Amino acid sequence: MKITAIHAAKIDLELKKPFKVAIGYITKVDTVVVRIDTDEGISGFGEGSGIPFVTGETSQSVLQTLKLFEKDLIGQNPFAIDHLHKLMDRTIVRNPAAKAAVDIALHDLCAKALGVPLYTFLGGVKRMVETDLTIGIDTPENMAQEAQEIISRGFTQLKVKTGIDLADDIRSLRLIREAVGDQVKIKVDANQGYTVTECLEFMEQVHDCDIELIEQPTPYWDVEGLLQIRKKASIPIMADESLMQVEDAVHLLRTGAVDMFNIKLMKCGGLHRGMQINAMAEAANVPTMLGCMTESPLSIAAAAHLVSACPNVQFVDLDSFLSFKDVGGVRHSFTIKGGMIDLGDAPGHGVEVDI
Ligand code: MG
Repeated sequence: MKITAIHAAKIDLELKKPFKVAIGYITKVDTVVVRIDTDEGISGFGEGSGIPFVTGETSQSVLQTLKLFEKDLIGQNPFAIDHLHKLMDRTIVRNPAAKAAVDIALHDLCAKALGVPLYTFLGGVKRMVETDLTIGIDTPENMAQEAQEIISRGFTQLKVKTGIDLADDIRSLRLIREAVGDQVKIKVDANQGYTVTECLEFMEQVHDCDIELIEQPTPYWDVEGLLQIRKKASIPIMADESLMQVEDAVHLLRTGAVDMFNIKLMKCGGLHRGMQINAMAEAANVPTMLGCMTESPLSIAAAAHLVSACPNVQFVDLDSFLSFKDVGGVRHSFTIKGGMIDLGDAPGHGVEVDI
């Protein structure tokens, strides 16, 4: 089988409401969807959803990068996934969302060629994956109300954004815990918004709120700050923006700066690299989470299949597709009830889009 064409298009996704985090305010989203065709009539679908302030990419740059890949990829065997990653890496450094778009489409079409769900192709066995749902920054009262609404929809896990105002963050966590009771799991994501001192103060003030983990308290470049926090921390520390590519995982494991990793297909370049990072983390007894950017159900499905295949992925934050008014013609075969995603048994990742 040989790759014959790569088609890519931008789609616009409208949010139900603006999403505020410590490093940005998102009011509209666009993402790039990709279809890779082969000479055997099998196509695979992928998505590249760059965020300028995380991956340094825009939809326009993802489209341009995908054009650069065409000459190397067309004519190649789509099963040669590691080799094709090396060709992309040789063409351009970083640009992980563009590489993820190709990677997801390749995995989709390989699984389809074998007639198996993507999780089977990746070595997994479970169809069900449970995700949390994220609460953006708002007034503490509004955040607590939103938490209650989410739990009433059947979710059992929350992720709470913090990192702009320490006093508000502490109040939000207290009100949310009070609103949802003891059984709900709560993660916190500061999105680089704290100093070391602020993070330690936060942990002290919310010590009785039963917080599962804190994501990325300090700026992405401040691995030393993460290490300082971890040495005194009462809550596990997870790297997100400090962990982009595979080499960052090596550095974080060597320095022992964090307890956990947040892997995102759009930061690391797709499933192949994501599984490499997860394997290294597993060998070092570092549990991982599969997280997401502002992605449509297409790459969310791919990420959920990876979760199914990797038991070391102990936390799941694959909720972005629930924040859109509609998903721009993306048709997915997985279903979600409460936070429980059923991947089904369709070949590939089970998502298609007209491009
Ligand atoms: Mg995060």
